[in-house]
Amino acid sequence: MTNDDGADALGLVTLAGVLGEVHEVFVVAPDREQSASGHAISVRRPISVEPDPEAGPSQHYRVGGTPADCVKLALERLLPGRPDLILSGINHGTNLGRDVFYSGTVSAAVEGVFQGVPAVALSSESTDPAVLRWIARFVCRWIEGPHLPPPPGVLYNVNFPAFNGRTGEPRQLAWVRLGRREYRNRFERRMGPDGRPAYWLLGQPWDRLGEVDTDVDALAQGFVTVTPIHTDITHYPVLAHKPERETIAGE
Ligand code: MN
Repeated sequence: MTNDDGADALGLVTLAGVLGEVHEVFVVAPDREQSASGHAISVRRPISVEPDPEAGPSQHYRVGGTPADCVKLALERLLPGRPDLILSGINHGTNLGRDVFYSGTVSAAVEGVFQGVPAVALSSESTDPAVLRWIARFVCRWIEGPHLPPPPGVLYNVNFPAFNGRTGEPRQLAWVRLGRREYRNRFERRMGPDGRPAYWLLGQPWDRLGEVDTDVDALAQGFVTVTPIHTDITHYPVLAHKPERETIAGE
């Protein structure tokens, strides 16, 4: 397991606790929040690991790096063998539509797929402890079901809607494509910590609702959503209409 909210985040701690009752769970997570770090990796700087893997095996590592670093390091150095599955999350906040390009949660799962390990990204609209426990119990059952593992090169991006005693827990899961969650970007100019003016990004998500088969729409309707994401982002329809080789004209 890993995440982008940090090793102490309630989503990860809750899921690790519930899964750990029936599975062997290793947690390799960033030592601080790394949300919106995308697929960044640490190059030309050291990556700290606590506890020290050289001192003996552990089931819980805090890594001074990004979510993608965590997955690479876990598979390369920290785990005793290849895991059956990588779970990233439960993220505090949904990862819908365009979020998947910015999300450290999703990128950790992408890294797993790059390394040939099945991976699932998990994100929740609510951080209510009772909701996170419900999700953890659901995930525990779902990963044993017929949909896992995803096909090679594919990860599952799973999102959970907020719910409470009044609305009731989700009753259905929807297999959907990425929807149109965009952001209204707004930069505010304020004084930075060093006393000089700086810009702060205060973007608001902007969900373009109205399509039936998307993650944004299905989540808004109270479904648990699953989107299979292919790591090959080539747009084949365009490629199909282009010549395979083209001569470059000289000047
Ligand atoms: Mn996060």
